[in-house]
Amino acid sequence: MGSGGLVVMDEDTCMVDVARYFLHFTQEESCGKCAPCREGTMRMLQILEKICDGKGTPQDLDTLESLCRVVKTTSLCGLGQSAPNPVLATLRYFRSEYEAHIYDKKCHAGVCTELLDITINADKCKGCTVCVDVCPTGAIKGERKKPHVIDPAVCIKCQACMVKCKFGAISRG
Ligand code: SF4
Ligand code: SF4
Ligand code: SF4
Repeated sequence: MGSGGLVVMDEDTCMVDVARYFLHFTQEESCGKCAPCREGTMRMLQILEKICDGKGTPQDLDTLESLCRVVKTTSLCGLGQSAPNPVLATLRYFRSEYEAHIYDKKCHAGVCTELLDITINADKCKGCTVCVDVCPTGAIKGERKKPHVIDPAVCIKCQACMVKCKFGAISRG
């Protein structure tokens, strides 16, 4: 991934988020001497953040690819010339993940919090109230020994409730 290192990832890694992470790094490292790297990486990062926030459009993928080509071929030094590599690699091998973010508004790895939908399965919920106690925003309501519900308007998608539920009643979609 750009530096010649080997990084092992699994299905819990969002490849759009990975591209965003690497772009954030190179954007911070850009010295600003040449416009393609200085402006191009910033614009690419903005687009990746937009996609991770669930606001991406199909046009963004075309713009990303176009920016990758320009930054790669016109930047002055190796940093700018290699900056698009993580984006190009993830677009080539994991394009379906970008498309899921854009068309379905889903992050199947469960990383991009804006795209998560945390819900309680009423059939599995025992009404133990453990999730109520760990929720930092008071988003979960319900009577003891009865199915609980999450108010999506209050939930910040921290997933703390999912970790604590012993009955597997809480899922993210
Ligand atoms: S490509 Fe190199 S010279 Fe150009 S802004 Fe980036 S780090 Fe600076
Ligand atoms: S922790 Fe699980 S079982 Fe207990 S109330 Fe919450 S969702 Fe229901
Ligand atoms: S994801 Fe976090 S904020 Fe949302 S209901 Fe669960 S504990 Fe509360």
